[in-house]
Amino acid sequence: MSRKLPATDVAIIGLGWTGAILAEQLTRAGLDVIAIERGPRRNTSTDFPTTYVQDELRYAIRNDLFQQASQGTLTFRNNSRQSALPIRQFGSFLPGNGVGGAGVHWNGHTWRFLPTDFVLKSHLESRYGKGFIPSELTVQDWGITFNELEPYYDKFDKLCGISGKAGHLNGQIQAGGNPFEGSRSSEYPTPPMRQTYGPTLFAQAASALGYHPFPLPSANISEAYTNPLGVRLGPCTYCGFCERFGCGNYSKASPQTTVLPVLMRRPNFTAQTNSEVLKIMLSRDGKRATGVTYIDSSGEIWEQPAELVLICGFAYNCVHMMLVSGIGKPYDPVSGKGVVGRNYTYQTSSGSTLFFDDKLFNPFIGSGALGMTMDDFNGDNFDHAKVGFVGGASITTSITGGRPIGHRPVPPGTPRWGAAWKSATRDNYQSVMGIGSQGSSYPVRDAYLDLDPTYKDPHGRPLLRMTFDFNANDAKMAAYVADKTAEIGKSLNPRQIVKSPPLGPYSIVPYQSTHNTGGAIMGADPSTSAVNRYLQSWDVPNVFVMGAAVFPQNAGYNPTGTVGALAYWTAEAIINRYLRDPGPLVHA
Ligand SMILES: Cc1cc2nc3c(=O)[nH]c(=O)nc-3n(C[C@H](O)[C@H](O)[C@H](O)COP(=O)(O)OP(=O)(O)OC[C@H]3O[C@@H](n4cnc5c(N)ncnc54)[C@H](O)[C@@H]3O)c2cc1C
Repeated sequence: MSRKLPATDVAIIGLGWTGAILAEQLTRAGLDVIAIERGPRRNTSTDFPTTYVQDELRYAIRNDLFQQASQGTLTFRNNSRQSALPIRQFGSFLPGNGVGGAGVHWNGHTWRFLPTDFVLKSHLESRYGKGFIPSELTVQDWGITFNELEPYYDKFDKLCGISGKAGHLNGQIQAGGNPFEGSRSSEYPTPPMRQTYGPTLFAQAASALGYHPFPLPSANISEAYTNPLGVRLGPCTYCGFCERFGCGNYSKASPQTTVLPVLMRRPNFTAQTNSEVLKIMLSRDGKRATGVTYIDSSGEIWEQPAELVLICGFAYNCVHMMLVSGIGKPYDPVSGKGVVGRNYTYQTSSGSTLFFDDKLFNPFIGSGALGMTMDDFNGDNFDHAKVGFVGGASITTSITGGRPIGHRPVPPGTPRWGAAWKSATRDNYQSVMGIGSQGSSYPVRDAYLDLDPTYKDPHGRPLLRMTFDFNANDAKMAAYVADKTAEIGKSLNPRQIVKSPPLGPYSIVPYQSTHNTGGAIMGADPSTSAVNRYLQSWDVPNVFVMGAAVFPQNAGYNPTGTVGALAYWTAEAIINRYLRDPGPLVHA
């Protein structure tokens, strides 16, 4: 039995990065907004004060800030011939939980995708001819271009105070930045971070080989900054506790350090925490959302009527919410028809580890996004005519902090415990450097999300089922890029180079990245996309879906720059278009 609450203008599901941005924009436009968040309230400056010694065991090993499988999980299998089983401990990806979402404990690499990423299918066909894209790949265009999204990338950069160096500014290529990036309308809000020895060596080696290294765009910022909302951030101290930790120094952009200090004071905003949305309620004809149902921490169920429902629950959670609520046609991998669950993708990583005798690093000086990077082998920045795959990767040396438990680099063959392991740890702790790559992940028909036929959550809803493996195209790309990382590494004359092994099969056990994408993809055609170019459901026009679930395929970058830009793009479409004429913003 549920109790009905007074109606609101907007119900937001999840108060992470996208929920906070949408709530700020829509309350500013005068709407009453209620954000319902599964996890607890968090405030980075008081929960992680600078006077407090960061607890690696609690946060980085026992994953205290993340969603626990006992709260909610999904099932997993590599392909549709297998039976999926529930994930009982998150490993490969670590979904956020609580106010700020994964924005509290992210690293802060803040990218813009390449112009060609947004028109991938048409670009590859026009450059290489029809029939060039491997037939098993279901890549497609986004229905939006880089130039359309650029002003919103700019807004997200300015919200966060991103540190970096422009490489392409108002149509002019700039020295020291990324020459492959789309043209930016303004320089980064703050200058690049100061580089340590490893990234500096990488940049020297890459330049000597004719590549184009530049500072990694970082949301751990280099100097004091006041954002357009008047919220002030402080310079990073390079303490090395970003990824998996909150930053109490106001140096890492997160919802808490950029938006929430303003949003929480607005009288037309309410944050309902420790409350999980169970489903979106629909009108009898299924064409309109009437609000959401949620369960609070005492187990009471509430109905929150709303004129607009925004699903901001993080990538695959958004897909689950659509499926359990009956919004959009579920994808069927056999017929290839249906859209919700289609084109689930991830991130494809490879790289090389270099062991030196003659170099000494200080890995404990670091931050989530401190490093040098290059885009020469990303996207379609290089000729794919003869390489046998499409896609690419950014190649980076970053120093996230040589934490005592997590950072124990030893050469292959070292015993995993005992005296030999201890002495190898001592010998290598300061003499190892990595050159990593973060690659595109392109979709295939048999990688998708749907509702599990067997396993249910405590509320009786089917769990989400993830079917995913690295495909042949992406594995070839990762091997090619790993060779490039080894080539750069070799020029530094290390004692030993260890290249990452061939990719696959995908395992959900070791951490890889929380860059889950796709499943509720955007596009121009309702038969191949779940949401239109404004991220509005084709089927239920007062529902909008935020986050990386809308990416038709993943690019060779971290997602949140694009996720943040799309949140601003949708906010503007709601305010300037939808509110004036509520209904579909695109007619198919
Ligand atoms: C360790 C780590 C490092 C990362 N580093 C980077 C990086 O360097 N660069 C980058 O670009 N990205 C990075 N990411 C990814 C980044 O954090 C996400 O892309 C970003 O937070 C997504 O924003 P979002 O609003 O979609 O989801 P989130 O910020 O995760 O917010 C979703 C919120 O919804 C809530 N929620 C979910 N379901 C429900 C429900 N049914 N009812 C109520 N609430 C619900 C969740 O509790 C959560 O708080 C990282 C992620 C992790 C975990």
